Amino acid sequence: MSLPEPLLAAINGKWYTPGDSDISVSGLISPPRLRVLTDKHKPEEDPLDMIWRVLGSATHAMVERAAEGLDGWLMEERLYTHVGGWDVGGQIDWYNVQRKELWDLKVTSAWSVLKGEPKPEWVAQTNCYAQLLRENGHDPACISVACILRDWTKSKAADSDTYPQQQVVTLDIPVWSSRQCCDYMGERVALHQQAQQAADNGDPLPRCTDAEMWTRPGKTAAMKKGRKRAMKLFDTQAEAVNWRTRQTDASEIYLEDRPAVYPRCGTGKGDGYCAVYEWCNQAKGRAK
Ligand code: SF4
Repeated sequence: MSLPEPLLAAINGKWYTPGDSDISVSGLISPPRLRVLTDKHKPEEDPLDMIWRVLGSATHAMVERAAEGLDGWLMEERLYTHVGGWDVGGQIDWYNVQRKELWDLKVTSAWSVLKGEPKPEWVAQTNCYAQLLRENGHDPACISVACILRDWTKSKAADSDTYPQQQVVTLDIPVWSSRQCCDYMGERVALHQQAQQAADNGDPLPRCTDAEMWTRPGKTAAMKKGRKRAMKLFDTQAEAVNWRTRQTDASEIYLEDRPAVYPRCGTGKGDGYCAVYEWCNQAKGRAK
């Protein structure tokens, strides 16, 4: 599909630059393998895949402009600190100096807040921002995220108790101590430095973890002849076999292996979210 030039200009605009640092907070929390491969291959993304990011940037810019003149708020402030020999930079969204409140804005899917709790990476990211504030003379006491749910629908809200009931949801983030933040940032910097060194030396890169690949582990499904849906799912085949022997209709039950899936990586058919799949032997090796 050809897009109109003004929209393409918006998509290709540099709405965020990492500033003068060795690594940004976003880089710090991302998988070291992914970051090194991205730096090396600079993958081109399909403009249509970047639309959500443009909407996020536009929302940040709109709020920043609207808040001009509000007393006591630091808006979109870029801050730096030094960790393990690297300069770490990050741009906080909004900080209220008097109330010591740090806010982070997310333009995200309704699905991502279904559990009513923040994602682990949001907790890590915002606590790194809190630490940047501390290192720059502030004393944040609480952290929250304001989530604008881009795909929220009224009809789903009416049909479900677990679906968010409003298009904007705020979530509190547990505040780490300064020591916890320093430890976390120190560990992440060390992991990224190791990955960088491996890349420079031509050594194998550290592997992405299951959490980083958003892994859904493999299961064994107990299936019954004539039924499409699994009767029950088990973490291991041994558990499934054990369960089947206790069923009165055991002869009609067969077991089916459901392999693990890695949504972030995908399978190389354009179904993943990682832009460096093409150069990643960890993910490609698995697909063989
Ligand atoms: S494709 Fe998967 S394993 Fe490879 S860098 Fe991306 S997330 Fe990590």
